[in-house]
Amino acid sequence: MTALKIIRLELFINGRDVPAASYFKVRDPGRLTDTVAEVAVGTAEDVGIAVDAAHKAFQSWRGTSLENRIERLRAAANALEIRSNELADLLVREQGMLRRDTLRDTANGVGSLREAALLADPFLRAEEFRDDEAWVRVEKVPVGVVAAIVPWNAPMSLTMGKVGPALAAGNCIVVKPSPYAPVAVSEALKTVAGFFPPGVINIVHGEDDVGTALTHHCLVRKISFTGGTRTGRAVMAAAALSVKNIGLELGGNDPAIVLDDVLPSEIVSEIIKGVFPRSGQVCYAIKRIYVPRRIYTDFCSVLCEAIDKYQVGYGLDPRSTFAPMNNKAQFTYVRELIERARKTGATVRELGSKLDPASWENGYYLRPTVISEVLPDAEIVMSEQFGPVVPVVAYDSEEDALAMANATEYGLGSSIWGRDIERAKRLAQRVEAGMTFINSHARTALGGRHMPFGGMKQSGLGRAGTTVGLAEYVEYHAISLNRKGVPAFATTHAQA
Ligand code: NDP
Repeated sequence: MTALKIIRLELFINGRDVPAASYFKVRDPGRLTDTVAEVAVGTAEDVGIAVDAAHKAFQSWRGTSLENRIERLRAAANALEIRSNELADLLVREQGMLRRDTLRDTANGVGSLREAALLADPFLRAEEFRDDEAWVRVEKVPVGVVAAIVPWNAPMSLTMGKVGPALAAGNCIVVKPSPYAPVAVSEALKTVAGFFPPGVINIVHGEDDVGTALTHHCLVRKISFTGGTRTGRAVMAAAALSVKNIGLELGGNDPAIVLDDVLPSEIVSEIIKGVFPRSGQVCYAIKRIYVPRRIYTDFCSVLCEAIDKYQVGYGLDPRSTFAPMNNKAQFTYVRELIERARKTGATVRELGSKLDPASWENGYYLRPTVISEVLPDAEIVMSEQFGPVVPVVAYDSEEDALAMANATEYGLGSSIWGRDIERAKRLAQRVEAGMTFINSHARTALGGRHMPFGGMKQSGLGRAGTTVGLAEYVEYHAISLNRKGVPAFATTHAQA
């Protein structure tokens, strides 16, 4: 087999590739001996140049018409869609997920640009009000330079979910991709950037110092951050120094509450779709399951039987149904969590089969794991594992289940599983979460159009998607004329 070409990825500032003094390597998480790319390491100085370019571009971009911006977004979405297959392949190699998941991520990225174009008009138009005394105009104006900081687990959709609304509203953007998945998203961003004036979209790669420089830069007016809660706190603290507008989409520890009127065999196949999308590396995956004690043993055995069918292998192998983890830190963290749970006496079942046992050590492969006979306040239950392991906790009453579900600092997604829909709806209203699903743990097409995405408590601030998400990228500028203010101008005021 011929070796794949190593991609060289530069910074992208003011419409041009910009080389750096050093480059970091991106390894394939499913084939660690393969280098996918060498990526320019940006510095705080590069951040300054990129923010300046964005700020300069903003001076004219902010004045373009809404129609013009919408038209450009639509054209960019079409161009990105044409590259979907190629980018999905690339994303598997740097990020490790299954091909079907990277293709979905890319499609969702295209969808985010289209959604922003669709919702922008009339939402972004100014509103005017009149009475005998006054005229008032409320404008939704762009915030300015937006810093978009994104993680590795769904880089296409998460990045385009910021780029779409930011640009529709007339902002310019500087994106810092995650070093664990910078390549496909940069290719996508450069394709999109081709439809906008230079400086409207900029990309700076690098490590923590790049993120820190971006979040501290005084010309950055908004930070849109998606990542872990701990990093989110640092971002919020940095933003406070110059009172920046912030949006934080942070970690989750989504509970699934199974009610006592279901048979495990009826729901398990849907539940595992919610537990292990992208091998559990999804912010709003089910991360703990609460099951009535009466059906607990039966539920665990049906769950394990279903999970045991997964075939863990390389993302581009069409036989794989379960992908490796993305990076060493997360891989080590999840393995240690499992080992600590084992030591406390919980039952640990490592399931699924290894598709290619000989290559197992050459990737961050972990088998899907179920932890049962575990206490409600165990570390594995209370922490965000963000990987292929799920704890199952027994409960005695619905009130206990609700209290346990609400007993963490997270509040992103959640789900209720039951036959009695009215009972499930009543319980759903009492869950402390930004999103609660009933009898699934994912957004439907209708949910995608109408459910603002995001979390309560320490799962974040603000929402993405829908017009609620679009509103995150505007400032309100209210202008008022008192038509009776200066009597000498009465004639001209009357025309207003
Ligand atoms: P991290 O918080 O580690 O990193 C996210 C991004 O922030 C990376 O680009 C990272 O760059 C950057 N960063 C790190 N430190 C700073 C800093 N001090 N200032 C500014 N930027 C910084 O998260 P992961 O990439 O590991 O992603 C996993 C986490 O993301 C999980 O907790 C998951 O739940 C959450 N997530 C939340 C989503 C949501 O919508 N709520 C969606 C997807 C994921 P670098 O790596 O170079 O440090």
